[in-house]
Amino acid sequence: MALRRGLGFDRKSLQGAIEPRKSPVLWYLYSMRSLIPILVGIVLAASTVARAAPSLRATSVSQAEQNRLADDDHLSRMQDKEMLQRWTRLELLVPVKEKTRDYYLHAVPSDYRYLRPWARLLLERLASQYRARFGQPLRVTSLVRTVSYQRQLARRNGNAAAATGPKASAHLTGACLDISKKGMTRSQQAWVRNVLYQLRSKKYLYAIEEFKQPAFHVLVHRSYEDYVAQRLSAAKR
Ligand SMILES: [Zn+2]
Repeated sequence: MALRRGLGFDRKSLQGAIEPRKSPVLWYLYSMRSLIPILVGIVLAASTVARAAPSLRATSVSQAEQNRLADDDHLSRMQDKEMLQRWTRLELLVPVKEKTRDYYLHAVPSDYRYLRPWARLLLERLASQYRARFGQPLRVTSLVRTVSYQRQLARRNGNAAAATGPKASAHLTGACLDISKKGMTRSQQAWVRNVLYQLRSKKYLYAIEEFKQPAFHVLVHRSYEDYVAQRLSAAKR
């Protein structure tokens, strides 16, 4: 108590002592006034960097990383149409409608309109939220692929991923989908980017943004199903 009282007294007397009529600090600031626009500029630039939009830019290791993540989820790669049909019969792959009110498939051959159940779940939820917000459906340009289909794509398009090996396309797993950016405004793109970025940082999916063929490429993890179940049970409570 004695100490605190003592400090209080000190503070009072100090305040009185350092209060000159013309503060040298204020004079100093006044003399620096020409620097104010520059300082404001620096502060604004710094805050822009701090609020920079999330990035889903691909790196040279993205493809190998996706295969490692697919292995963690124990996902087989579709070798051919027969295997794809077998996986469908076992309901390890589920059909994706060509068109709903929330999304539509563009240039996806009928034999390849399948996804892993949790990847379809992401598509349905993302598309429904997108339509609720923007009043438009999502345009989906790729789902599951087989090795031979991937080879065909690679022949047509030099940017397409390999069909086999450690850098093979993750579309072979059926847990991948491409969402086209064609026709999206900047704010629509930013919304999709941000949602995918949030889910990626929580490790429910792996998403990259492609620029050569403007699309979001999304590999959905099995754990996304648990995430949705948690969200739904939390909403009921
Ligand atoms: Zn893709």
